[in-house]
Amino acid sequence: MADAPTIHDAPSQEDLSRCVHCGFCLQECPTYLQLGIETDSPRGRIHLLGALTDGTVEATPALTGHLDLCLQCRACETACPSGVPFGRIMESGRAMILQQGAAPRSWRLRAWLLRQTLPYPKRLSFLFGVLRAYQRSGLQRLLRASRLLRVLPGGLSEAEDMLPHLPSSSYEMKPGGSPPSADTKKVALLTGCVMPHLYPRTHEATVRVLARHGIEVVDVPEQRCCGALSIHAGDRVTGRALARRNIDAFLQAGVDAIVVNSAGCGATLTEYGELMEQDDAYAEKARRFSALVTDVNEFVADIGVQAPQAALNVRVTYQDSCHLVHGQKVRNAPRQLLESISGLELVEMESPDRCCGSAGIYSLAQREMSMSVLDDKMRDIAATEAPVIATANPGCMLQLEAGLRRHGLEGRVVHVIELLDEAYRAEDNSD
Ligand code: SF4
Ligand code: SF4
Repeated sequence: MADAPTIHDAPSQEDLSRCVHCGFCLQECPTYLQLGIETDSPRGRIHLLGALTDGTVEATPALTGHLDLCLQCRACETACPSGVPFGRIMESGRAMILQQGAAPRSWRLRAWLLRQTLPYPKRLSFLFGVLRAYQRSGLQRLLRASRLLRVLPGGLSEAEDMLPHLPSSSYEMKPGGSPPSADTKKVALLTGCVMPHLYPRTHEATVRVLARHGIEVVDVPEQRCCGALSIHAGDRVTGRALARRNIDAFLQAGVDAIVVNSAGCGATLTEYGELMEQDDAYAEKARRFSALVTDVNEFVADIGVQAPQAALNVRVTYQDSCHLVHGQKVRNAPRQLLESISGLELVEMESPDRCCGSAGIYSLAQREMSMSVLDDKMRDIAATEAPVIATANPGCMLQLEAGLRRHGLEGRVVHVIELLDEAYRAEDNSD
């Protein structure tokens, strides 16, 4: 990775001072709704981060606990009439605490674990190979039945509980699309770190749907993890190292767009421009890179979704992914794609844009709050009586699948693009 300048992160006074303490964000904050405590609200956290930044308070365990309980869902950004960039304030605040050596051990351990795994595709392939063997050998069934998993230390039993049934193989990029012509659009797909192992079917569906629209998808083998999980954990150093690598890899590919089907990754990629603004060698390239990034729902809606000719007679409810609706402000495009499928009945749940409690590794790090938020979400989903839950982010898919298991509900969780792909395949099979 390229040599990096030393950058000291901290929330800017300009960002902090935008908060006028009106409280409009409080009723949109999942942790405030659960606890009713000011220090677990957006306004309270901004106040704490302001006091930390100007040095009037120290990063005590109680204070960092309130910051750690934030899902970074950014619902407060959507609600805020003053345009407070809460996501940026929280990310730079966590980075400041880590860089000053004031972070609790759990934060440092988390950042280290992410730094040792996510940037390395071979390590991830090995890890998921082991997990696949664990599931296929019957050991998982045995351990779950014996309840021995409950005594595992350090969040391992929670991680095991979240593990979905892994597909038999991981995603491998197969370039697809129309034979290129002078006006064929050429795009690259961000494949991500864990998504090729957890949801290869989503990538495969994405490439097929893009091909259906005459889009050529090219391989960018040098790409790496987007860095979102490290950045959310306060490790902007690793995040910037990954950003440099991705910027070089994707810009060299000379594509018209960088298509992303993971909302969390997409939000981070669209913000590389901000992340790299103090890096003279990358600031301009990062802005150019971010301008190319687009969520797959928005991309297909913008080029004009081809309505499938076959019907999918199914009732679907859509869960907005926080980093799509609040981070990238994409609300209508996924609904537009779903509504293009004849026979599909879209039933809106109560508060579809409220977080499901996934939030990257939050479901492991803040298990109790994550499950409380999830339980509310599953009650709203159950009320729709929809057997299919569509969403736009692998973290949400994992969490909602865990929610179905936890509540003993029948149903399946899919990415929006998978339903569109199913409808096209039904059309092909009916020919
Ligand atoms: S990001 Fe989400 S959890 Fe955090 S303060 Fe804002 S609304 Fe609350
Ligand atoms: S973050 Fe925005 S909505 Fe919340 S108190 Fe501050 S100004 Fe008001």
